Amino acid sequence: MRSTVLLATLVLGCAQPRGGSVPPPADATADTEDAAVVGLAAIPSPTSPRIGDPPAPRTIVFRNARIIDGTGAAPRSDVVIIGDRIADIGADMPIPAGARSIDLAGRTLLPGFIDAHVHLGASPQRNHDAAVAERVRSSEADVALQAAANARRTLEAGFTTVRNVGGSFADRSLRDAIVRGDVPGPRMVVANFAVGITGGHCDGGNGLHPDVFAERTGPEFGTADGPDEVRKAVRLQIKHGADVIKVCATGGVLSQGDGVGNPQMTDAELVAAVQEATRADRKVAAHAHGNAGIRAAVRAGVHSIEHGSVLDAPTLAMMKRAGTVLVPTLSAARAVEAMAEAGTISAESAAKARAIAPKMRDSFALAVRSGVTIALGSDAGVFAHGTNGGEFVEMVRAGMTPMAALTAGTATAAALLGRRDVGRIAPGMLADLVVVEADPLADIATVLRPTLVMKGGELYVTPAWAE
Ligand SMILES: [Zn+2]
Repeated sequence: MRSTVLLATLVLGCAQPRGGSVPPPADATADTEDAAVVGLAAIPSPTSPRIGDPPAPRTIVFRNARIIDGTGAAPRSDVVIIGDRIADIGADMPIPAGARSIDLAGRTLLPGFIDAHVHLGASPQRNHDAAVAERVRSSEADVALQAAANARRTLEAGFTTVRNVGGSFADRSLRDAIVRGDVPGPRMVVANFAVGITGGHCDGGNGLHPDVFAERTGPEFGTADGPDEVRKAVRLQIKHGADVIKVCATGGVLSQGDGVGNPQMTDAELVAAVQEATRADRKVAAHAHGNAGIRAAVRAGVHSIEHGSVLDAPTLAMMKRAGTVLVPTLSAARAVEAMAEAGTISAESAAKARAIAPKMRDSFALAVRSGVTIALGSDAGVFAHGTNGGEFVEMVRAGMTPMAALTAGTATAAALLGRRDVGRIAPGMLADLVVVEADPLADIATVLRPTLVMKGGELYVTPAWAE
């Protein structure tokens, strides 16, 4: 009977199963029919396989784990995985026949990490000129192949789900290739091209000769002026597979020719983007550094503020009332400061980096105290992919408790991404799990070096002690 209960939990435990199949209770129908023929209530034969039955899903039991389940609940010790799902959790669980048992010997088991702000198609360049040359030279194929390598690094660092907020149509191609199993990588929620004004932060042609970049402008590439063009830009991103819409409400650090704090999209443009996305059941993520642009985006109804560098108490109160999530990207602040120091970005960007980075950290500390909802987002792509875990460290360093940071990078990020099947260790959830050697509540830096990474019940990083 226990296996029947487990299967019922698997089927019913998740309100919105996506991107993975739940093994059906293969024997149930056959047993009912057999029982009718011979007139018996039940035939106890669930363990004898028959010709034509699908192979039994693989079962793995993690034993002696210190579990941080993403909800802040008390630690428990055993987790049973059947196929791609978490089947059961408890202490001293019986190990099903044929199951693989992995003794964690007190190591910490966490939900797979979730980064709500990455750019897998972007990689840091050695200097500003090299970055420009890369943009001029790269085809979508170049971007996609680099992104695939970045996806693997991200997964191996324990990040089993990411939200890719701004890039190109290569992003939805990579998302689909990962779902097919063609390349290893995290589950991806993608925006395709970010939507913003001509000459704004998300206009990839800033500072380039029009002859070189003229073909990659317009709503299809996210460049839009006026509410009608913004609607078209949003519709085009969705037409080409976007799960989420990214808008650029203010200037940015690494874009040329725009003030980092200046508002860019008008109120009417922001409202048009939110309306159009909402009509298609998509959320909107707004890149916003300056306070006026943040407030305009929150008023328009965006679901998350990315960066949020200049926050104050009234703005945080607005966000709490509206349910707007803050995605702080403290790692990006640290990275652009280092690049300014090393002289690897333009003088203009270096000046913006020095001005905005300390403000972002102060705003984050204020946000933590305010109780606004915070989801982890690193902005990997500005710095090396696979070092996303540094964001947990930055968040703790800037005033968050380790447990709150871990929740921001698991359950809270999952909710922002609209993925109810990841981000927690609970029956029915996808088996996305990470093992770290130390106690992250005492030493948060241990999350930088996960020694075991599982996604959908498959092991992508396996230590010698688990073999
Ligand atoms: Zn970004």
